[in-house]
Amino acid sequence: MSEIFSGSFTQQEPLSDAAIAAALEVMRNGRLHRYNVEAGELGEAALLEQEFAAQMGAKYCLAVASGGYAMATALRAVGVKSGDKVLTNAFTLAPVPGSIASVGAEPVFVGVTEDLVIDLDDLAAKAGQAKVLMLSHMRGHLCDMDRLMKICDEAGVTVIEDCAHTMGAAWNGVASGRQGAVGCYSCQTYKHVNSGEGGLLITDDEDIAARAIMLSGSYMLFERHLAAPDPSVFDRIKYETPNISGRMDNLRAAILRPQLADLDTQVERWNARYRCVEEGLRDTPGSRVINRPEAETYVGSSIQFLLLDWSSDKVQEVIRRCGERGVELKWFGGAEPIAFTSRYDSWRYANKQSLPESDRILAGIVDMRVPLTFSLEDCALIARIIRAEVAAVFQGQ
Ligand SMILES: *Cc1c(COP(=O)(O)O)cnc(C)c1O
Repeated sequence: MSEIFSGSFTQQEPLSDAAIAAALEVMRNGRLHRYNVEAGELGEAALLEQEFAAQMGAKYCLAVASGGYAMATALRAVGVKSGDKVLTNAFTLAPVPGSIASVGAEPVFVGVTEDLVIDLDDLAAKAGQAKVLMLSHMRGHLCDMDRLMKICDEAGVTVIEDCAHTMGAAWNGVASGRQGAVGCYSCQTYKHVNSGEGGLLITDDEDIAARAIMLSGSYMLFERHLAAPDPSVFDRIKYETPNISGRMDNLRAAILRPQLADLDTQVERWNARYRCVEEGLRDTPGSRVINRPEAETYVGSSIQFLLLDWSSDKVQEVIRRCGERGVELKWFGGAEPIAFTSRYDSWRYANKQSLPESDRILAGIVDMRVPLTFSLEDCALIARIIRAEVAAVFQGQ
C-alpha cells in the first residue's frame, strides 16, 4: 500500500495572539485609515514603515495595498513612462509583467538559467534596450547580485527588486531588496508575512521615496510618515506627482508588525522544512534539485526541482500521480496558464518574444509550496512520494 499525504498545501498558520490583540485595538478605536490619528498618536502604518526600514537598514519605507502596487509605484517613482521598455525575468509570476503593463511600459524578457535565476549573459546582451530592470527573485532564488549590479551600473540601468519571495533572504550578507534602487515586498497570504493583501517598498533615494509616498495617496499629509524624507524634498515633487491611491491601512499594519518581528524565526522554520524535502529529493533518478550558492541566504518557502528534457506527457504524469497521493505540484511548462502559474508567452499584452533556452528549462520546472503548517515528518513523507513517482515514471513503470 503506497503512502498518501493528507495535509493542505494552502493552509496558513493562525495569527499570533499579539497580532490579534493589535488588530482588536485598531478595530476598537475605529481609526483604520492611516492618516486618521489623534494628536500625538503614531498610526500603525507609520510605525510599520519605521520598523521595517530599521529592520532592512533602509532610509525610507512605504507600506501600500499590495506587492504589485509597490512594484508599479516603484516603476513610476524611478520615472518609467508609457511606451518605455523595462527588462524583467521570463521566469516569474503574472504580477511582475503586470506591474510593467500597468504603467503602459513594455516588458523585455530576460532568460532563466538551470539554477532558476535570471540569465546574466542574456541580461548583459539586452541591458542596452532599457533604462530599468524589474528583477524578480522568483521562488526565492538569488542570482549573483554583485555581477548583476555591475552589469546594470555599467549600462546605466536602474534596478527595482521584486522581493515577494525573498523577504528575509540575503546575498553575501546584504538583505534582498537592498542592492537595487528600490526593494518591493508582498504581504499577501502566500508570502513570508500575512495580512491578506499588502506591500512594502524600501529605498535610500529621497526623491524616489517622496514620489512613492505621494503616488500612494498621501494627499499633503506626508509629514505623518515616520520613514519619509524631509518635507523640503516633497516641495520639489508635490505638484507634479499624481495621487494613485493604494495605501496600507492601520488594521493590516497592526497584524504585520508582530509578524515582521518574528521573521527570523519563521525563516529558520521554513528552511528546516525545505532542507528536509531537498534531502529526500536529492539524486532522484531523472531529476535534479536546484543548486543554492554559498553566498545566498535563502527562505525555503517553496521548493523546485527539474525534470529537464522530459516529454510534457511524462512531466504531467508525475504531477498527476503525485496529486493522487495528496502532493500538489505545479508545472511551469504548461501551455495554458493555470491558477497562479503562467508562462511568459501567455502574457499576450507584451510583444511576442522568443527564448528557446529558457523554454527548455521552463518545460522542466516543477514547483511546490512549503507551508509552515507542514511538520518535518510531513516534509519527509512528501519527498518520499515525489521520489517514488518521479523514479517510477522515469523508469517507465
Ligand atoms: C505575489 C507576487 C507578487 C505581487 O504580490 P501581490 O501582493 O500579490 O500583488 C510579485 N511578484 C511575485 C513573484 C509574486 O509571487
